[in-house]
Amino acid sequence: MRIVLMGPPGAGKGTQAKRLVERFGMAHLSSGDIFRAEKASGSDLGQKLAEYMSAGQLVPDDTVVEVMARAITQSDAQAGLLLDGFPRTVPQAEALDEQLDQAEKPLDGVVVIVADDEAIVERITGRRSCPSCGRIYHTKFLPPRRDAFCDDCEGDVELTQRTDDTEQVVRERLAAYYQQTEPVIAYYRRQGQVKVVEVDGNGMPDEVAAATAQAIEALA
Ligand code: AMP
Repeated sequence: MRIVLMGPPGAGKGTQAKRLVERFGMAHLSSGDIFRAEKASGSDLGQKLAEYMSAGQLVPDDTVVEVMARAITQSDAQAGLLLDGFPRTVPQAEALDEQLDQAEKPLDGVVVIVADDEAIVERITGRRSCPSCGRIYHTKFLPPRRDAFCDDCEGDVELTQRTDDTEQVVRERLAAYYQQTEPVIAYYRRQGQVKVVEVDGNGMPDEVAAATAQAIEALA
């Protein structure tokens, strides 16, 4: 199955994507994770990406499309695909359609996780993750068992906060979402070739996970 997971930053896409991959077994491609790995590598591309990411702005389409097209080609096509954070603009969605159409592997559905802005700001500013295994926590809603250390990793692996998870940057990222990414949902609806389903992301992670899994099963 090939699915695009959409929703504002902090709606829980990353948390839900991990659960969906465990349940349905498709390859998970998160543009944000791919860009952060590129940034951590210290490459020229990574430095260019970092300029946009630290300001909460979208990376230009041509760069995003090039990096993501390569990642999709290299992913395990048999396993299916869960795209998370991509596409985020209409030109990105058009480029993705073209690539998938050429491969004769069109999308099966678009799942949009929706959440309120204030809930998002509270979630994002409290979000922490393990630099070793990537597990995501929240200081209030999903705290680790031991103060600031990952539950799953051996030794004391201290959780970190993304540099773009501050309130000011979150508000920039929300503005970018409403201006540039919401139109992608309308694009898929207009295009009419793919089912678009909305899931309420305001609940606790388990509730959202159940609703998301149900939405994906309904697409199959
Ligand atoms: P995320 O982890 O999905 O919130 O992405 C973190 C940051 O990476 C975003 O705020 C953007 O700066 C950049 N980014 C990730 N995916 C995209 C995309 N599809 N288009 C443009 N910028 C992106």
